[in-house]
Amino acid sequence: MQCDRCNQSVKKENLHKHNGNLLCEECYMDALSPARTCDPWASQSAKNFVRETGSIATINETQARILGLLKRHKAMEISVIAEALEIALFDLKREIATLHHLEKVKPETREGKRLITLW
Ligand SMILES: [Zn+2]
Repeated sequence: MQCDRCNQSVKKENLHKHNGNLLCEECYMDALSPARTCDPWASQSAKNFVRETGSIATINETQARILGLLKRHKAMEISVIAEALEIALFDLKREIATLHHLEKVKPETREGKRLITLW
């Protein structure tokens, strides 16, 4: 038997099933450990970031695109923005939260719809 990832030969009893692959001990542990992402926004709330850096933090490209859209459309639903920018709702919400803390955008409810508008 051999490991599907590193191709070293492994005894059958030392192989582990993972996502349809048979992996050796090492590759299995590696596959199970959470992805290492370098994402300061995920580990630190935007609020803290703003507090520590002063509110004039630079905005990233995605945030700039969100602001650009809102300048044109005035008010948009989050799901519509996500579609327009082709990014995941989860990521978008994080960017919106950051922009909210930076006082760039704010949520608004209009006719029962939750919209995002410029601050
Ligand atoms: Zn392996």
